[in-house]
Order: sequence, then C-alpha cells, then structure tokens
Amino acid sequence: MLKLLFVSTPVGPLGTGVGGGVELSLFNIAQEMLRRGHTVQIVAPIGSKFPQLPIVEIPGNVQIIAQSQERNTPIMMPDNSLLANMWEYARQVQNEYDLIVNFAYDWLPLYLTPFFGVAIAHFISMGSLSEAMDEIVTKVASDFPGTIGFYTPSQAATFNLQQCPCLSSGIDLSLYQFCPEPENYLAWLGRIAPEKALEDAVEAAQIANTPLKIMGKMQDEDYWQQICQNYPDAPIEYLGFLSTTDMQQQLRQCKALLMTPRWVEAFGNVAIEALACGVPVISYQRGGPAEIVQDGKTGFLVEPDSVAGLVEAIANLSKIDRYTCRQSAETEYSVEALGDRFEQWFRDIINTPVAQV
Ligand code: UDP
Repeated sequence: MLKLLFVSTPVGPLGTGVGGGVELSLFNIAQEMLRRGHTVQIVAPIGSKFPQLPIVEIPGNVQIIAQSQERNTPIMMPDNSLLANMWEYARQVQNEYDLIVNFAYDWLPLYLTPFFGVAIAHFISMGSLSEAMDEIVTKVASDFPGTIGFYTPSQAATFNLQQCPCLSSGIDLSLYQFCPEPENYLAWLGRIAPEKALEDAVEAAQIANTPLKIMGKMQDEDYWQQICQNYPDAPIEYLGFLSTTDMQQQLRQCKALLMTPRWVEAFGNVAIEALACGVPVISYQRGGPAEIVQDGKTGFLVEPDSVAGLVEAIANLSKIDRYTCRQSAETEYSVEALGDRFEQWFRDIINTPVAQV
C-alpha cells in the first residue's frame, strides 16, 4: 500500500472553485486512492472543504492565478506565502510518505524537487502560460524522467514535451444521472474568466434563441459585467457556483453543453461531467475537449472562435444520441479507470531510483 502526500493548489481553498477543474481531479484521485486502501494526506489552504477527506489546513496568503499573468511576468511570491508554507510542511513530514504529489501550477514546488529526499510527482493542470514555468517544467521533466504528468497530449504539446505521461481525467459516474429527454436549454459551465470566452456562448444562445444556463465560479466580475452590457437581451441565467449534485441536476436537463475555450484547455472536466449526464458537448476544436468529444457522435467540434459554427451545431443536436454520450463517459472516464492510471504513474515514480542531479 502506498503512503501519499497530496499538496493542493495555493490559489484558494479546496471546494471554492477558484482552482478550477484540478480541485475535482484532486478530490476524485484522493477518494479512489483511499478506496484502494492507500494512505492519503491532503495539504491544502485553510478553509478547504472536502467532505470525508483528511486535510491538513495551512494558513498564508494565496498565490495569484497564473492565467492572469503575462508570459514573461516574473514569478511572484506574497508575504507569508501559503505556497511556501504548504511546502515547508511537506518538507517536515516527507519521510512519512512514499511519494509527494504536487497539484499546484507553480514554479516553487518544481524548483524544490531536487531539494527533497522523497520523490515528487507533479501533476500539471494547465497548458503553457509562462516562460519561467515552461523552463522549470522542462528541466524537471529532463532531470526526473516520468515525474511530470499532464491531462492530455495536446496540453503536453504546449510545453513541447511529447514523452510525458498523460493521465486524462475521470469522475464518480454514480453522482451524475442520465437524462434521456432534455428541456429547451443550453448549458455553459466553468470559471467566469476571459480564457473561457463565455461571450461566444452567450452570442450563440442569442442567435439560436435558446436559453443558456451559466454555472461556475465568478472569477472576474468586470468581465462578467462587460458581457451583460454587450448582450443585454441574451436569454441567459447565472445560477452561481453549485455543488456537483446541484450542478448535475441543472446540467442533465440541457440540450447541450457549450465549451468555448480561447486557450488550449488542458482537459475540461466539465465535458465529461456533461457526457455522464447524456448531454452532448459542442466545443471549439482545440485542446482537451477536442480529444474528448467524438465529432458527430458525442457532440460537435467546431472551428475555434466561430460563433456561427456553434449555432450550426446547436441546430444539428437531434443527430446526437444521448445514450452514446453517457456510454463514452462510462467506458473512458470512470473514477476506477482514473485510479488505475494514477496508481500506475505513482508506482512507476516510486520504483525509479531517485536521480542524482
Ligand atoms: N464546477 C462546479 N460547479 C459549478 C460549475 C463548475 O463545481 O457550478 C466545476 C466543475 O465540476 C469542474 C470545474 O468547475 O470540475 C471546472 O473545471 P474545468 O476542468 O472544466 O476547467 P478549469 O477551471 O480547470 O479551466
């Protein structure tokens, strides 16, 4: 049995949605490792709420989110850094564990790799965003082969790293109920932030004259207000950031999920959550969603940044069989399959002698 120390993202407490999809991934991987009888301890910001999971809460000031920075912005650390405090804790307890698993998209834990006696697995949750991160990710991938893990090959390609493990994602399918007959609604899910280009989904919903339910963390209030100003008559409704249970209750009744990433989405957990409910996914053909959605079968992949493409796909939704959508989630994205991939990755790292660099 493995003894695992999971170190969370330092951008905000677990359960708040600030960390995006990596929060759900960490939750599911931890649950599945515990179910398999492994020991898991999670180190996370104070205020983290994940029911039934063992969390050590660490105080300190949060890290600025990487997506809001320029490519050449120097790495920044606040005073009383939460990130530094979490890794100081990890340093102190490291000898009680076989492996530390890093879920932060941050320079510091990568830099610290050779300073630790215990191996560190780094799960990278976003595509390339900054020169300093690219440099340290590439260096660790070279000095500690196999320890950098990504969600998808298209994400890994943004770092020019083709040989690294890609772990994909998975969810507890029992939490998502299949809905064979939808209502006349569309859904949009995710952090409300510019890289997600919510405005394109709003415009498409307006043109298609179909109401759009929006759910997710309000990360950039100014951005949201701008969308509301630009599309005053759009048939949209913001329902807030909902728990998985409440979110799927809304989502499952929708005709389709619209995904409009302006960036290379590393994965897009919301895509598999929709499929699990039998909801087809209409997405720009870029990043993770382009690897998840089977065009014409479980949704549609449209030309990136084409609102007309989204509208056309909405008109074609009757061609998609919702049961096929649920089946694709069951075969490829179960939490058990996720557990198999991560457990193998962890064992491969633990069984590799620690590099002398
Ligand atoms: N989410 C949620 N409640 C909501 C809307 C979204 O819990 O009302 C979660 C969703 O389950 C997913 C995450 O927000 O895990 C968004 O992650 P995704 O991978 O799609 O994108 P990211 O934010 O990582 O870029």
